[in-house]
Amino acid sequence: MKLRFLGTGTSCGVPVIGCQCEVCTSTDPHDHRLRCSALVETSSTRLLIDCGPDFRQQVLPLKFRKIDAILVTHHHYDHVGGMDDLRPFCIFGDINIYADSTAAANIRHNMPYCFVEHKYPGVPNIRLIEVSAHESFTVGDLSITPFIVMHGRLPILAYRIESLTSHSVLVYITDMKTISPSEVPYARGADVMVINALRFTKAHHSHLLVDESLAFIREVSPTQALLVHSCHDIGLHSAVNARLPHPVRLAYDGEEIEVSPSCQTI
Ligand SMILES: [Zn+2]
Ligand SMILES: [Zn+2]
Ligand SMILES: [Zn+2]
Repeated sequence: MKLRFLGTGTSCGVPVIGCQCEVCTSTDPHDHRLRCSALVETSSTRLLIDCGPDFRQQVLPLKFRKIDAILVTHHHYDHVGGMDDLRPFCIFGDINIYADSTAAANIRHNMPYCFVEHKYPGVPNIRLIEVSAHESFTVGDLSITPFIVMHGRLPILAYRIESLTSHSVLVYITDMKTISPSEVPYARGADVMVINALRFTKAHHSHLLVDESLAFIREVSPTQALLVHSCHDIGLHSAVNARLPHPVRLAYDGEEIEVSPSCQTI
């Protein structure tokens, strides 16, 4: 199972429009962060996690191939704002979008033209599939179990993804601030865990800071952990990585990882 980070930035992306800080003006491509999204691939299955406003730019460099499923974490614009750009992928058939009832209702509300009986020619053909926490489903050779994390006061979905062939496990958590003790077991035992970390200081009501993410990583002890959904305040990619303890790293856009017990960067 291969994981590719399509975007690792917070809701406004990095650089922030109009900002002249050292991160936003950095010439190191590791400091450029599109909105948060990831692609999970095996030889037969391709999953997209979230489909934000940078989706078009994120998929243009990739091989044009069917997306078997889109896993939505929640309905905030930085996670769903690119869905209209799924249109070209309808050449492979309807687009299966998995979301909880709140996110599904918001998608229907935001894209009503996709859900009417007589559709305008060319709109994306979306098949919206409502999922519930702890109810596993299978897409190709991947078993997926959603679980709940709290994004401030909003319950949203995180995903535990297990390869049915290699049994490697990826846990993908974004936009978390807290988690109920009853959900924690779903995050344990991952070969790779992806988790949000906004910045080092200035507490946020709905996002973890780096130290809070590190505490949770210690609690569930994945083989490897990568931080995403970071804003420009986190600092330069190289400086942040120098501060992070093994086996935690700050992910960067375009990074690819083989999710296996030995977890190599490709
Ligand atoms: Zn977000
Ligand atoms: Zn900046
Ligand atoms: Zn959010």
